[in-house]
This record gives sequence, structure tokens and C-alpha cells, in this order.
Amino acid sequence: MNYSSTLTSAASSTLRDLLATAVAEGYHKIGQAVFQAKGEGFLICHADDAGRGDLEIFQNPHDAAAIALYDDAGAYRPLKTAPNLKHGWALRIASLAELHLALNLLYPAALANWRSLLRGEKIASPLRQTVNRQTGMYRVTGLITDEEAQGIVDSLCSPGCLRCIQWPIPVEGTPPVVPIKEKEIPLLCIDACSLLIGEARRVVKSRLGK
Ligand code: SF4
Repeated sequence: MNYSSTLTSAASSTLRDLLATAVAEGYHKIGQAVFQAKGEGFLICHADDAGRGDLEIFQNPHDAAAIALYDDAGAYRPLKTAPNLKHGWALRIASLAELHLALNLLYPAALANWRSLLRGEKIASPLRQTVNRQTGMYRVTGLITDEEAQGIVDSLCSPGCLRCIQWPIPVEGTPPVVPIKEKEIPLLCIDACSLLIGEARRVVKSRLGK
């Protein structure tokens, strides 16, 4: 499946224009959230909650920041793309501009990364370059092997994050291909996050016996 020519054309414009085009084409999901037009505005909720009538209603797009902060058990979510978006809320917002704001608070930079992908831009550096430029206490991550790095991706990223990794591990590697899901704005990982870098440090130090 390929993206439509209308969508790829919209990627040359603003993020708001891209979102408007995506909405017009029926895009309705990002991460674990779904959105749909309601009157003049939009309704956003957890995908599992679509159709529920007992949701707590919020009306300010800035409320998305608080919604994204904690999981169902009230634990802080350090990674906004972890598959633990809390349930039980619905955000009624008045305009496309507010939809843009709310989605960006739920899933920061997702729309901008998607636009870069649609534009065909190179958006991610190999992990090897990322660890090689670490300084201070994280400089040691430059010693991680490709196998160790793949092990971290398999144990940390695959089950614990909804982002689709865009970076290869070795410098000469080719970026993974992003699977296109029907009418869903993808979540792309364009750089190893602090959780992965922290884990890389732990793995290397463990191997070195430090
Ligand atoms: S490195 Fe990317 S894919 Fe892995 S946990 Fe961090 S943000 Fe998610």
C-alpha cells in the first residue's frame, strides 16, 4: 500500500494542511488514540474506548498533556509512545487547529516526522553515529556491539514502544521500511531515546564488569 498523491502533495505544505488532508482521507488513528469529526470540531479518545458513553469529558486541547502524563494505574509515563495510554477520557475540541495541538501533546512530533517521511527526507541517523557522539557518563555507549544494540531493541523497543524505528544500527545499514497501516498516522522513531541510551550504558558497563 502506498500513500495517496494528495497526501504526499500535502506534505510539501504546513503540518496543519497535512493533517487536514489526512482527516479528509479518513485518517482517524495515531498510536492508541482515535479521532473523529464531531459537528464543527473533533472527538479524541483511547481506541479501546470508542463508543463508550461513560467517559470523562475534557474540552481544552491542552488537557491532552495531562491525559498523556499517567497510565491507568496512575504511574508516570516517561515514554509518551509506550502502549499504556490511559483509558476513560474523551477530548471534545473545536477545530482542526486544536486537533493538531492535542495530537502533538499526546504524541509529540509524530506529525512532523510523518511529513518528513512523506517528503522522502532522511530523518534518522544510524545508531552507531548516535552512540559515538555521546559524552560524559554516556560516552561508554560507543562501545556497544551491534548484537547488544539489537538485543536492546528487541527487549526494550519492540514490546515497550509503539514507534517504528527508522535508524539502522550500523553506519552502512539501511533504514527499516515503515509499515503503512490503514488510515493511521505512524509513530516514527528518528533517534534513539534516553531510555535506550541508558540501557546501552548499562549493558556495556555490565560487559566490562564496571
Ligand atoms: S529508541 Fe525509539 S523505539 Fe526505542 S523505546 Fe526509544 S523512542 Fe521507542
